[in-house]
Amino acid sequence: MIFRAPGRVNLIGEHTDYNQGFVLPIALHLETRVEARPATGGVLQVHSASRREMKAWAVESIRHREPQHDWSDYVIGVARELIAAGFEIPALALHIESTIPEGAGLSSSAALEVATALALLQGREFDRLELARLCQRAESNFVGMPCGIMDQYVSIFASEHAALKIDCRSLESESVRLPDHVAILAVNSMVKHNLGQSAYRTRVRECAEAFRGSLRDATLDQIRGNKHARHVVTENQRVLSFVEAASAGDLTRMGELFLESHASMRDDYEISCAEIDFLVDTAKNIPGCYGARMTGGGFGGCTVNLVSPEYVPDFTRAILRAYPQAQVIECVPAGGASVCG
Ligand code: ADP
Ligand code: MG
Repeated sequence: MIFRAPGRVNLIGEHTDYNQGFVLPIALHLETRVEARPATGGVLQVHSASRREMKAWAVESIRHREPQHDWSDYVIGVARELIAAGFEIPALALHIESTIPEGAGLSSSAALEVATALALLQGREFDRLELARLCQRAESNFVGMPCGIMDQYVSIFASEHAALKIDCRSLESESVRLPDHVAILAVNSMVKHNLGQSAYRTRVRECAEAFRGSLRDATLDQIRGNKHARHVVTENQRVLSFVEAASAGDLTRMGELFLESHASMRDDYEISCAEIDFLVDTAKNIPGCYGARMTGGGFGGCTVNLVSPEYVPDFTRAILRAYPQAQVIECVPAGGASVCG
């Protein structure tokens, strides 16, 4: 059987998920597929096509394994959480293929976790929200990245043709229809600065220390002078304003909010970098572009751009002229994880 889980591009609401705030991602047609076949000898065998690497473990040994600080931690992290939830891991040979660029801020990690979890479950019943939380725990506890719930949640719950507004406190979500007359383009800068992972951990810690309770409840007055906290507070408000603007079909306002969000990540949260700022500044001056911002954890990866559909070819050409190594990806909201048969 083959299990698929999509990557995502976050439209707005960056670094708000671990502060119990709001996010608005869409799932992508780019996805990770895990093919599962029965294996013999009580062994879990995993092959990653992109890594051209095969790993195998005795099923019995999985509960005692330590992180190896490589890609297999995502697989073993999920397996260990399933064991902790009372599930036996069957002897399987897993083959992983993905069309999501790794480390580009399009969440190849959550797609790998979710597709792996479905493959290891082999059709056994599991609550979908619990599955998202289980995959998030795998990434924070075993991989060691203290991520929020957005990536795993949208990879499971996304619906076609709509963005998903997630309340990361109540863990409820609603579909948000986007105006018809707009294209969403991700532009991959093809850079990822090493600072990213340590800075992410630092921001998570700082946010927890900035305010008693979660920043979701803080007012600007209460966190005065703390630029990092200010980003989280204003970004939450921008998600709500963006959803309103989308419902009203107000593309100009949606674009402005993208640019405000980017300025806030650059100046207040301090998670942008020169290449990304260049891509955003270039994009906003291209005809037909309503707005652009960095998407994902920061320090590289992708920008997300709102572009009038008839300008897409010109926009793409202009970006590639200014930044030839970029990869432009047209994003059409896809559905959440599923079994392909
Ligand atoms: P992102 O989620 O934005 O792509 P992350 O750093 O969170 O970036 O996750 C990327 C990591 O996930 C890779 O370095 C690798 O360890 C793992 N990964 C993702 N997809 C695959 C795959 N198809 N095969 C092996 N490892 C993968
Ligand atoms: Mg990730």
